[in-house]
Amino acid sequence: MRAILLGLPGAGKGTQAQKLQSKLGVPLIVMGDILRAAIEQKTAVGVEAEKYVSQGKLVPDQIVIEIVKQRLRQKDASQGFLLDGFPRTSDQAKALDQEMAAQKCKIDHVIYYGISDAVALQRICGRRICKKCNAIYHVDNHPPKKADVCDNCGNKLTQRKDDTPEVIRQRLQDYHRETAPLLNYYRQSKLLVEVPAESSMDEILRNTLHKLKIA
Ligand code: AMP
Repeated sequence: MRAILLGLPGAGKGTQAQKLQSKLGVPLIVMGDILRAAIEQKTAVGVEAEKYVSQGKLVPDQIVIEIVKQRLRQKDASQGFLLDGFPRTSDQAKALDQEMAAQKCKIDHVIYYGISDAVALQRICGRRICKKCNAIYHVDNHPPKKADVCDNCGNKLTQRKDDTPEVIRQRLQDYHRETAPLLNYYRQSKLLVEVPAESSMDEILRNTLHKLKIA
């Protein structure tokens, strides 16, 4: 299966994507994680990307399009993938269509996780992540067993630098301006699967699997 996950920051795309990945066994490609790794390693792309990520702004299309093309051409993605955080603009969506056409395949589903801005803010402010294994927690909704320690690998949990109220506001603004129009784009191509995402993680997963007809 080739699927895209769409939704506001904090919609739970990352958490659902990890659960779907273990069910489907296809690679999970997370644009935010790729950019954060490049920033951490101070690669040329990372240094450029940091200017935007730190302010909650979208990294220029040509940078992220090139990253995703290279990643999708790797062998493990040839039989399917889950794409989280890409596309986020209409030019990115068109570039993805072109890449799929060049590979003679197509996207099967675009899963949209719907939440309000208020829920997005609440979720992002309480989000904690493990930089080692990428596990995602929330201080109230999904706390780790031991405060600030990853259940999976015992690493110390941290808050993302861009998960601050000021930067979040910018990210929500960009989402509404650049990314929300993609819903219509994919609705018209009959790929959109809409999943309300303000309930519990388990219920959202059940709903996703049901809508995708995955047992
Ligand atoms: P995320 O982890 O998905 O919330 O992404 C974190 C940040 O990475 C975003 O706020 C953007 O600055 C950048 N980013 C991630 N994906 C993209 C994309 N497809 N296009 C442009 N910037 C992106």
